[in-house]
Amino acid sequence: MSLVVQKYGGSSVADAEGIKRVAKRIVEAKRNGHQVVAVVSAMGDTTDELIDLAEQVSPIPAGRELDMLLTAGERISMALLAMAIKNLGHEAQSFTGSQAGVITDSVHNKARIIDVTPGRLRASLEEGNIAIVAGFQGVSQDSKDITTLGRGGSDTTAVALAAALDADVCEIYTDVDGVFTADPRVVKKAKKIDWISFEDMLELAASGSKVLLHRCVEYARRYNIPIHVRSSFSGLPGTWVSNEPQGDQQVEHAIISGVAHDVSEAKVTVVGVPDKPGEAAHIFRAVAEAEINIDMIVQNVSAASTGLTDISFTLPKAEGKKATAALEKIKATVGYESLRYDDQIAKISLVGAGMKTNPGVTAQFFEALSDAGVNIELISTSEIRISVVTRADDVNEAVRAVHTSFGLDSDSDEAVVYGGTGR
Ligand code: ASP
Ligand code: MG
Repeated sequence: MSLVVQKYGGSSVADAEGIKRVAKRIVEAKRNGHQVVAVVSAMGDTTDELIDLAEQVSPIPAGRELDMLLTAGERISMALLAMAIKNLGHEAQSFTGSQAGVITDSVHNKARIIDVTPGRLRASLEEGNIAIVAGFQGVSQDSKDITTLGRGGSDTTAVALAAALDADVCEIYTDVDGVFTADPRVVKKAKKIDWISFEDMLELAASGSKVLLHRCVEYARRYNIPIHVRSSFSGLPGTWVSNEPQGDQQVEHAIISGVAHDVSEAKVTVVGVPDKPGEAAHIFRAVAEAEINIDMIVQNVSAASTGLTDISFTLPKAEGKKATAALEKIKATVGYESLRYDDQIAKISLVGAGMKTNPGVTAQFFEALSDAGVNIELISTSEIRISVVTRADDVNEAVRAVHTSFGLDSDSDEAVVYGGTGR
């Protein structure tokens, strides 16, 4: 008997109707002879609403308590889904992350999975049940406290369980038909990709594509778990993410896989840093100690007359307060002049393994942006990606311009977005 792990995102279980629709789909898989583990996210925008609520009672909520609060969202959907399945005459049991054996480190709000011990899930499946698991959460090995895996973490839960249970496939059900060449909310002419490599998908995810989380793809690549991203609304075949295409999975030998954008980052500029050895180390050590992941970094050439330079970097907006607080603390020792915080930025990235061997991609990317009148503030590259930072206001136009310039526009159907606010 084959085992499938399915994951349903918040927009798929946004209301009672959605939960009943998902229950039917799960039961269908069970009827087709599979053992089914279904991982669920919180209903609709529940997680955002809980965060808003927490911030109303405390500007920087304590990590442990925030995790306790947020995991409630997934518990609501898992219990309701199990009820809906039972109502269809099938046996289902719901499990929290901790009950499902998702063991993490103790970093609250973005814990890493370090082990999965799905004994209770196996027993439940053996008894003939459908197992429903609350995504995005686990329990710390050391402190035994409840943790969460970071926003969008249910995908990672699903892949981790698929690996631990040796599942045949991990199906990620979402509100679009798969992975597109750009966000279909922004680019109506975005094309669905039939198959994409782990490598390109990792870069798209790192660049802001929200359809799959970076950590989830990383995990899937490490354990070689094929992911099938598809819509819970349409039932159409979606996008396969794996090492190698299988069977009739179409591979477009395009140079570029897609254009991703990200408006979740902010830019911090440390103004007037003395231009001498050790200052950058000092600044980024302080940021690292606050457990903040930074993205792009730019240091300006110092003005000869002053011997001072500016250092800018980008980071998730959600960590802006923590970063500026950490930098304020070292202001006197570093001796910089001031801090600037700018959250009106966007990052636009072009991704594709083909750019390694095709000169001119960078030039064409910059030309497309310039033709659209978009100014570039920061640039960074990897072997298979080019990213720029622009004003947030320019992002949609910039993404469309680049998508068109690289011939990615479809000439047929418009990309469909079935649900979700994209919040
Ligand atoms: N509910 C969590 C979030 O919104 C986890 C998830 O959706 O995967 O981030
Ligand atoms: Mg969600």
